Amino acid sequence: MTASTKTTETAKTTTAAIKLPEKSLGFFLDLANDAGNWSGNPWLTGNVSAGRSASGMTQTLVRNGLIVVEHGGDTGNDAYAVFTPKGVEFAKAHGVDIDYLLASGNVASPKAIAAVEAHEAAKATAKAAKAPAAKATAKAEPKAPAAKATPAKATPAKATPAKATPAKATPAKAPAAPRPEFVKVAADLPEGYFVRWPHKSYDLATTKDKTAAVKWFVTCNAHGTKSAVDNAKAGDQAGSKAGRVEWCKKCKADAAK
Ligand SMILES: [Zn+2]
Repeated sequence: MTASTKTTETAKTTTAAIKLPEKSLGFFLDLANDAGNWSGNPWLTGNVSAGRSASGMTQTLVRNGLIVVEHGGDTGNDAYAVFTPKGVEFAKAHGVDIDYLLASGNVASPKAIAAVEAHEAAKATAKAAKAPAAKATAKAEPKAPAAKATPAKATPAKATPAKATPAKATPAKAPAAPRPEFVKVAADLPEGYFVRWPHKSYDLATTKDKTAAVKWFVTCNAHGTKSAVDNAKAGDQAGSKAGRVEWCKKCKADAAK
C-alpha cells in the first residue's frame, strides 16, 4: 500500500463520520459545484443562495471542518468559502470532484483550520463549564492558571567570541547595494472589481458580478497596468515576471534594457 492510498483511506474514514443535515449537505454540494466558477472559492453570498438559513448552514460546515470562511470585497463584508482538504474529500465522497483544489494548493491553510478547531474547542469548554453543578463539582475548583511557564530566565548567552574567521581567500564581495524600495502603483480597476489575491509584484482582482465578461484582472504593481485573464490560475502565470513582459509594455521595455 502506498502512502497516498493510506492518506486517502484515512481521510475517507474521517469524512465518513461526518453526518450533515440534508439541507446543509445540499448547501455544501452546491458550494462545491459552484467553486469552479470562482477559482475554487465560491461566495457564500453569491451564486449559491441559501437565503436566511445560509449563515447557520455555513456554521455547520465550518464546525465539521469542511470549509473555512474568509472575507473579501471592498468592505471585507463579502464572505467566501475556502475548502479544507477534508472538505475536498467529503465532496468527492458525495460525487463532486474538486480535487483540483488540492492540486493547486487552494485549500484552507493548517493555520486557518487550527484556528477554527481552537474556537470550537473553546466553545465546547464554555458549554461544559455551564453543565449542571453535580457534574461540575469535580471541576469547581478554578483551575490554577496553566502552569505558569517558569519564565525562561534568559541564560546569559554565552557570548561566543566572534572569532574572526580568517578571511577566506575569496575576495570580499562589494557590499550589496541597498535594494530600492518597491513602491506599488495601484492599477485602475473598473467599478465593482477589487483585489482578491494581493501579491507584491502583481494582484489578482475579481468581481462578484457573475454576468461580468471579465472575471479576473491581473495587475502589474510596478507600473499600474492590468490585463484580463480567464481565471486566477492564469492570473498567477500572467503575473509572474516572465508573464508580465507578455502584456505589460513597461515591463517589456524594462526587460529589453
Ligand atoms: Zn509592468
